[in-house]
Amino acid sequence: MSTEAKHFITKEVRLIRCTHCSHVWQPRTEVLPKVCPNCGSRKYLEPRQRKTHTKNRRS
Ligand SMILES: [Zn+2]
Repeated sequence: MSTEAKHFITKEVRLIRCTHCSHVWQPRTEVLPKVCPNCGSRKYLEPRQRKTHTKNRRS
């Protein structure tokens, strides 16, 4: 009986967002993928350009 596998609790939901195609996915392992699974960009973690887009108002 390996029912424990179904009940494993993730510490935190880690989402990766590609800065190139804005594709958001959740990695299944702790190892980050080398490329974006959507657009295949190797620098998906690096910002493509300067953008002061930090206006996230939640009220
Ligand atoms: Zn991408």
